[in-house]
Amino acid sequence: MVTPSQVYRSTRSDSTETRSFEEAVLQGLATDGGLFIPPTIPHVSAETLKQWSKLSFQDLAFEIMSLYIARDEIPSEDLKALVDRSYSTFRSKDVTPLVKNLTGSKENIHILELFHGPTYAFKDVALQFVGNLFEYFLQRFNQGKQDSEKKKLTVVGATSGDTGSAAIYGLRGKKDVSVFILYPTGRISPIQEEQMTTVPDKNVQTLSVNGTFDNCQDIVKAIFGDKDFNSGHHVGAVNSINWARILAQITYYFYSYFQVTDGKDEKVKFVVPSGNFGDILAGYFAKKMGLPIEKLVIATNENDILDRFLKSGTYERSDAVAATLSPAMDILISSNFERLLWFLARENLTANGSDDLKAGEIVNNWFHQLKTAGKFIVDPKIIAGASVDFASERVSNEETISTIKDIYQNSENPKKYILDPHTAVGVCATKRVIAKDSNDANLHYISLSTAHPAKFADAVNKALSEFEGYSFEKDVLPAELKKLSTLEKRLKFVEKPDIELVKNAIEEELVKMGL
Ligand SMILES: *Cc1c(COP(=O)(O)O)cnc(C)c1O
Repeated sequence: MVTPSQVYRSTRSDSTETRSFEEAVLQGLATDGGLFIPPTIPHVSAETLKQWSKLSFQDLAFEIMSLYIARDEIPSEDLKALVDRSYSTFRSKDVTPLVKNLTGSKENIHILELFHGPTYAFKDVALQFVGNLFEYFLQRFNQGKQDSEKKKLTVVGATSGDTGSAAIYGLRGKKDVSVFILYPTGRISPIQEEQMTTVPDKNVQTLSVNGTFDNCQDIVKAIFGDKDFNSGHHVGAVNSINWARILAQITYYFYSYFQVTDGKDEKVKFVVPSGNFGDILAGYFAKKMGLPIEKLVIATNENDILDRFLKSGTYERSDAVAATLSPAMDILISSNFERLLWFLARENLTANGSDDLKAGEIVNNWFHQLKTAGKFIVDPKIIAGASVDFASERVSNEETISTIKDIYQNSENPKKYILDPHTAVGVCATKRVIAKDSNDANLHYISLSTAHPAKFADAVNKALSEFEGYSFEKDVLPAELKKLSTLEKRLKFVEKPDIELVKNAIEEELVKMGL
């Protein structure tokens, strides 16, 4: 049996066409350029919430995912095994542990640490699962087939440093999948390069391209657009628009909510350092499923398209990306925001059977305008709808640094807690929201921590090197990351940012990989 929340459609489609979970995951992006969504969000009763509050992270993930994946597509036993395997690589038994009352019990700030996966960043929570899922679907398809009939996936991506390693660690050692990550030579930090290039698995290849990040991204786009290359190698992506990533991230909203409220009737606001809107969108799903979240606060850096939209109703692309201290949030367009816009558009229509199709038409129009005019303007009712669930705050580089200093000096539990710059954007926003709220002792703030501070040494040292006794090596750098500098690096140097050189490099390596 398939329930309505286990069927997917495109945010830009005005047809009745739908996709299965497997199709939505393997396809990634819809052919009309839209993103896949389950148009029906399943509702969880208060009684079920109570039962869920006692579950482990893994069991909770299984329950949530089961609502969005038909049993016929992935049998329960298989889904359980996929979830368990995905989170067995985490260093914390809670997977996403919570640091309660960071600044004492007056402010009720709780830090949700999402960085205990293999690459020390929040994307692991989703990509460890997505990697296993890709392998599962491919293995099932390829079972019993001759090698020439097997489906093989070649994942190609570009990174400015932060996100490539999470993709590599999600896909390393997976059968019938290869992964190629392009990065600009000399323009990523040593730790980032070490994380990506010291992975020994045969199916992983980093390509150090003598050029800029934009060059790398353009080459990847051109490869996706290259029909011959694409059909020959089944080129795939693991970018943040894949539905399975959003799905995997819903779990920690429930899990941390249960830990903070502990069965009591208390209110919770989540504050989320946001770029492509994938992390906080999972919070929106949790809220719509019935988790009584008071508000979801979008924290942006100076790349503030979301903050401007919520305040003005105009979604407008800036001319250039600002290079900030929180680079994983440096974006022009928030790709996953389109999914929220679809739900807001539908909410704003009077209820009738064709609303899903009409919402698709509206979203399609908006994104057509964005493409042709660089912006679109929505009805004030759409903003009013968004404001029921969301608030937003924009945080500058100076505030990011002063927040890292402030928490280092004033945290109570534990003392001298060190924030990474992305998390600091969230904590700064949290403090502002607390100041705006009248001191309500029953109001809790869960501030999401998206990276370990060791990954962003420059910003952390900039904030803390003035303090006597502070040492990056001693206070920040985990032994496991320190060890990376002693391991052998595997990278292929591409001397010019040229698509033909990159394609040749990929084909050469695929032969060596036997793929
Ligand atoms: C990707 C990322 C973010 C932003 O998450 P979105 O889902 O793109 O909003 C924030 N912090 C870090 C460290 C990240 O890697």
